[in-house]
Amino acid sequence: MEADELHTDGNAIAGLLQEIFVAEFTTLERTCQSCGDRNPAGSHRSYQGAGIVMRCPNCGDVALRLAALPDRLVFELLGTWSRPVEPRPSGAALR
Ligand SMILES: [Zn+2]
Repeated sequence: MEADELHTDGNAIAGLLQEIFVAEFTTLERTCQSCGDRNPAGSHRSYQGAGIVMRCPNCGDVALRLAALPDRLVFELLGTWSRPVEPRPSGAALR
C-alpha cells in the first residue's frame, strides 16, 4: 500500500464534519481534558472579554476560545466533544 492510500484530504469527510458543525450547540457534550468530567455544552461557564472563553464547570479549565472578527469566527475547542446521532448501521462508512 502506498503512503497516499493511508489518508485522504479533509474534503473526503466533509459530510461528517457538517453533521458536527451544524448541530445545535446545546446537543453537544464535552469531556474535559483535565478532570475528565463530562458535561453538556450549555453547563460550561462563559466569560467575555477581548474574546469569549468557555470553561469546564467542574475544574475551570478552558473548553473553548472564540474571537468574533469582522470577517470570520476564530475558535479553538479543547477536550473531547460529542453529539448523539441516530444509530448507524454497523460497518456504515463515516461520510
Ligand atoms: Zn474539567
